[in-house]
Order: sequence, then C-alpha cells, then structure tokens
Amino acid sequence: MRLDYKKLIRDVPNFPKPPIIFKDVTTVLQVPEYFKACIDDMLDAVKDMDFDCVVGIESRGFIFASAIAYAKGAAFVPIRKKGKLPYRVLREEYELEYGTDEIEIHEDAFKFTKKVLLVDDVLATGGTAKAALSLIKRAGGEVKGALFLVELEFLNGRSKLENECEVRSLVKYQ
Ligand code: AMP
Repeated sequence: MRLDYKKLIRDVPNFPKPPIIFKDVTTVLQVPEYFKACIDDMLDAVKDMDFDCVVGIESRGFIFASAIAYAKGAAFVPIRKKGKLPYRVLREEYELEYGTDEIEIHEDAFKFTKKVLLVDDVLATGGTAKAALSLIKRAGGEVKGALFLVELEFLNGRSKLENECEVRSLVKYQ
C-alpha cells in the first residue's frame, strides 16, 4: 500500500450523533497525491477481478467508484437514496439502527455492462451494501466483488456480504 491510511483518515467522535466515531476520508481526498495513491491502491486491491462496471453508493461511494471506473475504463452506475434518480427504478428497503431507509437503481443500469464491482467508502454494519447487492442482481448485474476503503470489523458487515461475493477493504479497524 502506498499510504498510511490510519494516520490520514480523521476520526470525528459523535458525528452525526453519539457514540458514532465518523471516519472522515476527506483528509485523504484533499491532498492531490494522496487522492491519486488511494485510487491506485483501491484498483490494486481488485486487480484480479474481472469487472466492466463500478457501482457507487451515494454519496461518498460516488467519489471512489467513479475514479476507479475512469482509471479502469469501466462504466459507472449510481445507487441513490429514494427519489433522486429520474428514470424508472428498482428499490430496496433496509434496516438502520433506528428505522429503515431505501435505495434505488435505474432498472436499465446494466444495459451495456454486467460485471459489477460495488464500491463504498466505509463498510459498517453492511446493511447498505447488502441492499445494494440485491438491487444490482435484480437489475441484471453479476456481482464480481465489493470494495471499501475502510472496514469497521467490529460491526461485522462482512458477514452479510460474504455469501454473495468477494469482499475487500484497505483499512480495517477492530
Ligand atoms: P452500513 O449500512 O452500516 O454498513 O453503513 C454504511 C454507510 O454509512 C456507508 O455508506 C458509510 O459511508 C456510512 N457510515 C457508517 N458508519 C460510518 C462511520 N463510522 N464513518 C463514516 N461513514 C460511516
């Protein structure tokens, strides 16, 4: 790996509410050579995977997914919160700590590509990524893998995804 991510990623305690320690990745993005090295490291982590489309989860996932897609020469597909995508959508509901949330994908998202890498900044409980994998499959995508910059291992999100696909992350917090 090119960067010492644990030194670079900023912990913001009690954001958006206690007791969450928010992993703020903007400290990596704001330095030109760090942003580039980070995308290079993420690409390196999936160099054995055969994908032609990168799906990003709103909103920080877009930053990493679109840069990886561009560097690889792959397509980019967004998964967004309910009500943001303009065309016909598929929708998936998932559990949050309190209540539920919904994410959507365009129903024709995989008209030109099918081999999908799912990307987000942080894997926490895995609820969002699991719902995203389900949307990808319903839309006709073949999930090749899921990639995260940060994995909060103590929340066990990986266990929700591992029966679906290969799960990789660059920085793990126990
Ligand atoms: P989850 O569904 O619990 O895996 O949460 C995933 C989404 O919430 C991801 O899109 C993350 O960006 C965000 N997230 C959850 N926990 C954190 C955290 N401690 N720091 C930063 N982002 C987080």
